[in-house]
Amino acid sequence: MPSLSDVEWIFVVLVLLYAWETLVWARSGVAVFVSRHGSFQNRHPAIRLTGNDHGSLLLSGVLPSDMTLLCHEVPISMSARGIAAFVPASPTSNDRPTRSGDVFTWQQLTNCRARERDVRSGEQLICTMGSTVMADHFAGVLRELACLSEQARIDQIDQFYCGLFNTDEISQRLDRLRALTPPIRRCAHLMLAWIGPIGMLLYYGVLPLKVDNQTTATYIVVLFALWWTTVALVWRAHCCLFQDDRIGRFKLIACSLLSPAVPLRAIDYLSRQLLAKSLLHPLAVSATIDSPDRLRDFAHRVVRDFVYPLAPDLPEESLDPALGIAILEDCRVDQRERITQFLAAHNIAFEESLKPPRAEDEYSLSYCPRCWQQFERDNAVCDRCGGRATLPLRV
Ligand SMILES: [Zn+2]
Repeated sequence: MPSLSDVEWIFVVLVLLYAWETLVWARSGVAVFVSRHGSFQNRHPAIRLTGNDHGSLLLSGVLPSDMTLLCHEVPISMSARGIAAFVPASPTSNDRPTRSGDVFTWQQLTNCRARERDVRSGEQLICTMGSTVMADHFAGVLRELACLSEQARIDQIDQFYCGLFNTDEISQRLDRLRALTPPIRRCAHLMLAWIGPIGMLLYYGVLPLKVDNQTTATYIVVLFALWWTTVALVWRAHCCLFQDDRIGRFKLIACSLLSPAVPLRAIDYLSRQLLAKSLLHPLAVSATIDSPDRLRDFAHRVVRDFVYPLAPDLPEESLDPALGIAILEDCRVDQRERITQFLAAHNIAFEESLKPPRAEDEYSLSYCPRCWQQFERDNAVCDRCGGRATLPLRV
């Protein structure tokens, strides 16, 4: 192994720190939207590096201006009869968060509480959320619904599900982020260029400059000026976006002062927090950030997953299967109507997503209605989608 000088080791450590900051741990039940070259217009699907039942390690954007939006989906099915700890749909992932399938009547939810990331009814686990803040928020929502009269609860559930598709709210938050990030982006890019190419060219003597104590001192002064200016801008943006999150701000600024990679990736950090306290439908996020064509593609995937979710599409165990199935069915009918209306408002017909794909070749006989994988025999099962039965390609 070649021996490296101290300065070369510093470069290596900085590259590793930067690479670390480009990784995102997304818990299951969270849809991830990653920008490309700082814009969502040509975004690409998040690249999954590894994962387990609890979540996935994803590669986010790699530039200082790249952003990652995390969309927390509702982890339960809800209707006037009660709630079931299960949601068949999993549109952006080939894993479904493990849910008990347990059923709770509204009377059982008046004592609903959050414990860490878990939402519980007494000692019984309902669901695990993406963060403690989200668990606290969702336990409050369920408790509030449980304490209402039956008619008021039906209205409030309707409002809750309407809120999942609130694109105006997402747009406003994104606009605020975009208004605050240009100075951070400029400073972070300058800092990256100063540390990376300029620092290396200077160190290896490629630049026509004599590297003496004065040049080194100037280089270090400029580096710290860029570093601390970026940290100050990040602090200001965090204050404007998340005024109440003092602990989060303290942690971010402390880490930014210890590692220059943190302010370099601060736009990504801020964007990840943007939707962190809301439950949303991924379609609403896609409709806000994507071009009409990309929204159409995404909508097709959501609709196919909605109609043909990962198998099994019912919980394997439940304390009260009959009530659980009734709640899931109520919720499904309601969700189908909402998705249909939302897509119609964006000129996309629900049914168009369910058309079979074009046959890849003459040997393709059936296809998986969820992921569109094609098979060379009839009555196959798609392992990618939990063993979902395929449909004939040509009728
Ligand atoms: Zn499939």
